[in-house]
Amino acid sequence: MAILIDHIGIAVRDIQQAARLYTEGLGLRLDYIEEVPSQGVRVGSLAVGESTIELLEPLGAEGPIADFLEKRGEGIHHICLLVDDIRAAMAALQAQGARLLQEKPARGAGGSLIAFVHPRSANGVLLELCQRSEPPSTKGAET
Ligand code: ZN
Repeated sequence: MAILIDHIGIAVRDIQQAARLYTEGLGLRLDYIEEVPSQGVRVGSLAVGESTIELLEPLGAEGPIADFLEKRGEGIHHICLLVDDIRAAMAALQAQGARLLQEKPARGAGGSLIAFVHPRSANGVLLELCQRSEPPSTKGAET
């Protein structure tokens, strides 16, 4: 049901500073930086094959990433698994007792659908599920 690791979100204080390790050290490219004011975060995206590393920098003192940095410092914030049917994945997780952070999938970037599994149900990991907007049948046609 889970297809691949879509992205790993890393909480950082400064995207440009954090990106240097990956760009200058490992030859990756900082493809874009996007602000998501509703989440109080700026996202720096580095493609690694079919997956990405998302560097998450808080826009201000408020929001989940600002809270995370204050409590735990920089580090891995969440892991996102791409699934082909997010509603089926959510139902299967709930059926085996996992706690989700929302009842219904929420809208993510680019029209995707996302949902989070509570870290208490995932061995301390904040797990995100993501279903891309394209139907699974067009997967091979992506460029
Ligand atoms: Zn994410």
